[in-house]
Formats: sequence, structure tokens, C-alpha cells
Amino acid sequence: MKIRIDDIKEKPLVLSAEEEVAGYPVLSRMQEEGECAFLSPVGLQVTATREYDLFRVSGSVGVAVRMACSRCLVEFAADLRSAFTIYFSRESSRGADEDEVELAEQDLVTATFSGDEIDLLDEMQEQVVMEIPFKPLCREECQGLCSRCGADLNQGDCGCERAVAGLSFSALQDFKAVK
Ligand SMILES: [Zn+2]
Ligand SMILES: [Zn+2]
Repeated sequence: MKIRIDDIKEKPLVLSAEEEVAGYPVLSRMQEEGECAFLSPVGLQVTATREYDLFRVSGSVGVAVRMACSRCLVEFAADLRSAFTIYFSRESSRGADEDEVELAEQDLVTATFSGDEIDLLDEMQEQVVMEIPFKPLCREECQGLCSRCGADLNQGDCGCERAVAGLSFSALQDFKAVK
């Protein structure tokens, strides 16, 4: 999504859009590399407001994604959604009066833009990437796979002796042999 600076007047500018994942290079690459599959376009709801020299862009970005559970390997779908507030300032040629900028204002700025529009692509991409879990879980209490026979323990107990404390030496030998 691109926001034309001239469209941000005194009243907040409210925008929404659905954008194809193909338009987001980092997300497309994740999909190509098989890390996850996106099941919907990227949905954006955005409010842009002028605040003195800054532009405050807040809202939410969401997308449906399919991932493999890191415990049981079953694929599952999830809706990722992230709320954000980003302050944009105009990119300045880094001159001597840079130091003159009030520190309080500088601390707010999380991104810059140049020209006559704010391009949200990089920021929205980053929001989505941050929402993708490093170790996805199909559900919090997922039991994972049996370390001996590989059965999905969410489907019920496979009957293997898995308690580490009760693992006899011969069972350990069997386990190694199976591997
Ligand atoms: Zn799982
Ligand atoms: Zn088992």
C-alpha cells in the first residue's frame, strides 16, 4: 500500500486493501522455500494522521497462513494479525542541523519516506514476518510424535515405553538399532 502525502489532510485518512502475497518479496521467498504457505492476500486496515512534521500510520495487517507443526509435523492453518503504529518522517539529507531535531520527536520516528508518498511495503512485510512463529505449534498442548515409533501422540498412545526414567538399557539398545 502506498499513501499519497497530499491525501493526508486534517482529518485522518482511513484506507483498506487486499494485496497479493506475490507483491511482497520476502513473503514470496518464504513461500518458495517452503517455510509456510500463504492462503489469503495480505489484508491491510490503515489510518494515517498528520502530527506536526510526522505522519502517524496505525492499523492492522493480517494474512492466513499454513505451517507445519514443529512437534507433530501436521500442517495447520492460522490467521496471523499484527497491530502497529509507525511514525514516518521525511528522509532528510543528513545535514549539520540534524542534531537540532528534538530528541523526543526523533525517538518516535520508526521509518522514513521520500517523495510524495509513503510506501508501506517493507514495514508491512516486517510485521507479517514477526508474526510467523519460529516453532509453530498446531495447538499449545500438542503431544508431538513418539520418539520411538514416530506415531502421532495426539491420535492416542502408541503403547511404547517412553518414560526416560523407565527406559531400560536393552530398550535403549533397541532404539539405537531402529535408528
Ligand atoms: Zn502439533
Ligand atoms: Zn511409539
